[in-house]
Parts: sequence; C-alpha cells; structure tokens
Amino acid sequence: MAKTKTGSKKGSISVDTQSLFPIIKKWLYSEHDIFLRELVSNAHDAILKLEKLSDMGEFKGQLENGVVNIQVDKTKKQIIFSDNGIGMDEEEVEKYINQIAFSGAKEFLEKYEKSSDGKQMIGHFGMGFFSSFMVSDLVEIDSLSFKEGSKPIHWSCNGSTEYEMKEGARAKIGTDITLHLNSESEIYLDEVKIKELVKKYSNYLGIEIQVNGVKTNEKRSIWNEASKNLKEEDYKKLYNELFPYETDPLFHVHFNIDYPFNLKGIIYFPRYRSDFDPSKKGRIQLYCNNIFVSDNIIDIIPSYLNLLQGIIDSPDIPLNVSRSALQTDANVIKMGKYIAGKILDQLNSILKNDRKKYEEYWKDIHTFVKFGCLSDEDFSKRMNDAVLFKNVKGEFLTIQEYLDANTALKNRVLYASDMEKQSVYIEECQKKELDVLVLSHPLDNHFIQQSEHKNTSVKFFRVDAQPIDELLNENPQEQEDNNQQYKAFQESVKKTLEANHLDIKIKALENTASLLLITQSEQMRRFSEMSKMMSNPLDSQEMFPEAVGVSLYFNSSHPFFSKLEALSQNEKEKEKYEGFLKKLYKLAKLKSGLLNGQEIKEFSDEIEKTIGDAL
Ligand code: ADP
Repeated sequence: MAKTKTGSKKGSISVDTQSLFPIIKKWLYSEHDIFLRELVSNAHDAILKLEKLSDMGEFKGQLENGVVNIQVDKTKKQIIFSDNGIGMDEEEVEKYINQIAFSGAKEFLEKYEKSSDGKQMIGHFGMGFFSSFMVSDLVEIDSLSFKEGSKPIHWSCNGSTEYEMKEGARAKIGTDITLHLNSESEIYLDEVKIKELVKKYSNYLGIEIQVNGVKTNEKRSIWNEASKNLKEEDYKKLYNELFPYETDPLFHVHFNIDYPFNLKGIIYFPRYRSDFDPSKKGRIQLYCNNIFVSDNIIDIIPSYLNLLQGIIDSPDIPLNVSRSALQTDANVIKMGKYIAGKILDQLNSILKNDRKKYEEYWKDIHTFVKFGCLSDEDFSKRMNDAVLFKNVKGEFLTIQEYLDANTALKNRVLYASDMEKQSVYIEECQKKELDVLVLSHPLDNHFIQQSEHKNTSVKFFRVDAQPIDELLNENPQEQEDNNQQYKAFQESVKKTLEANHLDIKIKALENTASLLLITQSEQMRRFSEMSKMMSNPLDSQEMFPEAVGVSLYFNSSHPFFSKLEALSQNEKEKEKYEGFLKKLYKLAKLKSGLLNGQEIKEFSDEIEKTIGDAL
C-alpha cells in the first residue's frame, strides 16, 4: 500500500481479475436486492457488538438505542446506511473490508467458474458488504470506532479493484455506508421499494430499522419466544404478516431446539382453498437468525410439507452450497424429519384428544395428510390410521373403524367415487346394511393402492365392481354351471348388442332389484384409469380400453328373466326380442351412469316414440 502526499492511502484489492464486477452484476441479476439484507445485517451486528461491549464495561460512553437508518436521496442518487454501532478504525477497515470482504468475492468468483448449478444457489454467498457493488458505481464508508482516541476514517471504491482510504469527518461513533447507485439500479431510489425490502428481509431483526427516519420493521420474532408466553393472537398476527390476504389458519406447530441443531419455527395449517397450488413457492419461508433468506426451500424440507405455511429459522442450514448439496446434507435431512415429526405429533394428539375437532379440520388437512402418506414412508407409518373417510351418510371413519363395523365384508372396503352416478349400487349395499365410503378425491386412488400394497389382507372395491351377492357369497362353480345352461342366450345377447367385449353372465342375484346389471372389475378399471392418465393423447391406441373387464349380468331370479330368455328362442319374435334387449341394456347403462348426454337424449327420444306408438 502506497501513502500519497495528501495523507490518503491508495491500494489494490487482492482480486486478480478485472472482470469481477461485470460478472457479479450479471450473475446475481435476480438477487440484487440482497445488498440491503447484507448492509442492514452488518449494521445490526455492529450495534449488538457495541451493546455487548457496554455490558462488559469496555465501552464507557453513553449507549443509545441501536438504530439503523436508511436514507434514500433521490436527487443525489444515493442511499446511506447509518448505524450507531461499534464503528471501525483505519486498521479494521484495512483488515475487514480491504482484505476479508474482497477475499469473499474472490471465493465467489472461483465457485462461479467451477459450478454449473450456481444459478440455483440460495442468495447468500458470504459476500456481505461486497454485494453493495452490485447496485453501485461508487461505495463510501465513513466510520468512527468506539475506541478512545480513534480517528474517523473515510474509504471509497469505485468498483474497480482500486480503493482510497483517508481520514474522514464522522463525529459520532458508528458507520455510514454510502452507495452511489449505478444507472441500472435507480429503482432503489424509491422509498417504497426500500421499505418493502426492509420488510421482506429484516422485518424481524431485533433492532429498529428506519427508512428516512421512519420505523419500518416489526422487530419482534415470536418464534424465538417460549410458546407458553404467547397468545393465539400473537401467532395469528405473524401469520397475517407473512401471508396477507389469507384467511386465518387452523392451528400451528411451534418448535425451538438447540440440539442436535439449532432450529426454530412456526408451521401453520392453512385452510383449504380451491385455488390451492402445492407447487407454489413461498409457503414456508427460511430465515437465518431472524433474517429472511428464501421462500423457495423445496430442497430443505420434505416436499409434502410445502403444502403448509410458516417460517423456519436456522443458522445451521448451509446457505452457500448448491441445491443438490443441500438435499444430501445430513443436518438438513434431520431437520426435515424433525419438523415432520413435530407436525405428526400434533395431528395425532388432536385425533386422540379431540376427535370432533380433528373431523372438523379434516376437510382442510386431508390433502396434506394423504399426500404425506403417499410421499413419505415414516409419515405413512404414523398417519395411515389417522386418515379419515366420509361414508355415504356423511360420517367420518378410519379404515379400521369401517372394517370393524362391516365384518360381513371380511376385510373388504366398499367405496363409491361418485355418489350420484353410483347411487343405484350404493342403495343396494345400504339395503344389506353395508356401509359405503366416498372416495372422490384424486389422491384417494393412489391412497388405496398404497394401503393395499402395505396391508395385503385389506382390499378396496368400488360399489359397481361386482354384484353384492357375489361379494357376500362367492361361488364360481355355480356361475360356470349357469353359463353352460344359457350358452345360446349369451350368444344371442352378444350378437344383438354387438358387444363382443362384454362378459355376459346369468346369475340369481337375490340382492339386486334390476334384471340387468353392469359391473366393471376393480383391477381392470384401475388399470384402464391408469393407462388413460399416462397415455399420450396423440396415441390412438390405449393400453386398456375403457370397456375392458365389463360384465353384463342377467338376474335369473328376476321375474322377467325367464320370459326374456324364452323370447330369445323364438325366431318369429326376433325383432321384438332385440328391441327389448337393446332398451334394457341402455337402461342398465343409464343406471350405471354410463350414458353420456347425447346418448341420454337419443334414448329418451326412443322411449317417447315407443310410448307415442302405443298410445
Ligand atoms: P461479514 O459480515 O460476513 O463478516 P462483510 O464483508 O459484510 O462480511 O463485513 C466484513 C466485516 O466488516 C464485518 O465482519 C465487520 O467486522 C466489518 N463491518 C462491516 N460493516 C460494518 C459496520 N456497519 N459497522 C462495523 N463494522 C462493519
């Protein structure tokens, strides 16, 4: 470092590339805002340090309330960050700014050159003070150290690797950092924008932050306080600050541990919203020592937790690593599990201690619980038995409660996916006093698949999967016999209905009121639904066409059956028989909810015409 005649010093920062600034500016384009977070954090730390020194008796002067003031000056195109903290003397500026700050920048540059996923890095690069150059052409420091006899120091750097340092004019202990904004960064000359950034990053920092003299931050961070000292209103207030415009949450989980890692947080269960989008970020915000870091922490917590809202605060989450490194970080994995565990404890405790409340909450929390069960083995182990289903009467049951109440079904669960369309089948189950669960949510299909996989003794059947008689008393032998006896009838049905894919069955169905009944095998229907979901819309051929596994039952215990069968043998009455059969088939389809709007219209016209002809 060379001393000039005027007493100021000029020096060269130890960064060996001239192109550092343009690269940083370009690279951090979307992250420019963080200069504010960094400068406010430094000011905050400086204030805390002075408070500590005062406590220890090392600073004997009058300790003022710590305040960070951000002055936005539109005409001068500058922002000044002023604090009444510890200050720096010449030696400290030399050590902390000239050497340390710039070595941080060098490290970043090296990382940038090597790392291909650098763009995904979470905003904190350990660059601190240096980030001010992202938005400035010139940065000045004016500081006066608390140390007795210190001289004020003035430092300036225009974004090249050269800086200048000389005696300054600051009379009060503390530091001013003056940013002369570059032309691309003039948005920061808007006071509203600066206030917004203070709220975003530093709202919960424990020291008052003013923008042009007006207090702008909340200060209190309730997640650091003991839950026993907090009221419901405190939690609601924080929620409303973090997520304005949303209705109050259902309940929250508050955790605060120091070991094996330092982790604090409050997670809220939001009310269900129809426009709810689980991929939307910003639901759980990450803070580090009360400073906002990111609202996109999908790699830090298990993905299903992203359906919840709230904040977590931990200095133990590495912020300057890539996302892939975060996902495999042992501490981060443990933290995710810890948070999930806390949430599970809470849910189980509500279920155990206040079933009514749990049922009330269910409509808001079921997506989360089901999604959690599907996404995570541990979650599923603990929550599977806490999944509720509504039955057709509107009562809530767990699967076990259902099985216990329906022993006649021998570990089988009857469900409906659409109460309207399947009402004929549901009614028949109810006549036999068999309960039916309503599984209408898109996740339910996956959920039952997973449940059957885990507990192979329990099977789920949609109400239209088979006739109730078969379900209660399966006897395949009898079925075979009947079908031999009615071979000719079966053939005539297939021919008339032009339905080769249909499995025609003749069976005495004591518990079925109609003459014809359509069923679709549970497994085949699931395959067909799955193939539909996965098929390429451009592929004309689906793996499993819809009609696969469909059976058409003729109820031989129905009084009309023998007449219809006799009619089918009579060559002279062929036309009449075929007309009846086609109508009966359409009726059966109508009852099963299988006719679309156009088909219903055609069928109604047909019936109307028949009646008209008969009149
Ligand atoms: P970090 O904050 O991560 O240490 P920075 O580059 O932001 O890195 O700052 C380097 C050092 O400069 C700080 O550790 C601190 O000692 C000193 N410093 C920065 N800003 C201030 C300030 N406003 N008051 C006092 N010291 C400061």
